Amino acid sequence: MTRTVYVNGEYLPETEAKVSIFDRGFLFADAVYEVTSVLDGKLIDFEGHAVRLKRSLDELEMAEPCTKDELLDIHRKLVELNGIEEGLVYLQVSRGSDGDRDFVFPSADTMPSLVLFTQNKPGLADSPAAKMGAKIISIEDIRWGRRDIKTVQLLYPSMGKMMAKKAGCDDAWLIEDGYVTEGTSNNAYYVKDGKIVTRPLSTDILHGITRKAVLRMAAEAQMEVEERLFTIDEAKEADEAFTTSASAFVMPVVEIDGVTLGDGTPGPIAKRLREIYLDESRKAAI
Ligand code: PLP
Repeated sequence: MTRTVYVNGEYLPETEAKVSIFDRGFLFADAVYEVTSVLDGKLIDFEGHAVRLKRSLDELEMAEPCTKDELLDIHRKLVELNGIEEGLVYLQVSRGSDGDRDFVFPSADTMPSLVLFTQNKPGLADSPAAKMGAKIISIEDIRWGRRDIKTVQLLYPSMGKMMAKKAGCDDAWLIEDGYVTEGTSNNAYYVKDGKIVTRPLSTDILHGITRKAVLRMAAEAQMEVEERLFTIDEAKEADEAFTTSASAFVMPVVEIDGVTLGDGTPGPIAKRLREIYLDESRKAAI
């Protein structure tokens, strides 16, 4: 089925949607994005994604393409037009173009380009991958220094996923100066003696919307959380580990660099947090 997508004010069949070849998103990766999940036909944590989008735009001095209410309407309309019960809404804002290639930003009144599309993912919540748990490898983190801005510069994370695949694994965690920063497209955690450890927020990692929700839920469930730097060797000695992201929720990790964690199946804390997260997010979805 041909999807209906949104491009700069228009709802169009995906085959007819067009963006200029001079768009700075295309030429310079001068664009930011958000991915919001959909469960039961409703948006999970739209507010969190809208607030982070505004922050990314502000950090890059990029204009807002429309209001938050308009964004919500576009998300909802695409979910409805495409009959999405479980899946994702991808949103991208680029600095647009003034019709040529130039390193210098175009004038401030250049219209940003806004693109949204849906991805239908039946079974997203009841994922077999989450029941198995993920195997990860560790690789060097060679990304730029403003990982708190959610830009579309995703070549290295893509390469990281390919390195993991080649190693027979599912994903990679990134290491900088001896410490784990985050996963290629998720935040990283390990659990030892009941305590959840994760890296604190800074410009080194993306401020995950799921991270924020999961840490709040963990505290509410009386789980102990410590935000500090940690090494991959600590994680390898953990009882369990997991990642969080809007598209995979809480994903248990069962192997790191060939070392099996616990009994090699998803750990109790990761499983519990996944349940709580899905349950509470469904209730709060709009
Ligand atoms: N870290 C990185 C590098 C990511 O790309 C993502 C999601 O795409 C995350 C963390 C998780 O963020 P969120 O929970 O907002 O999806």
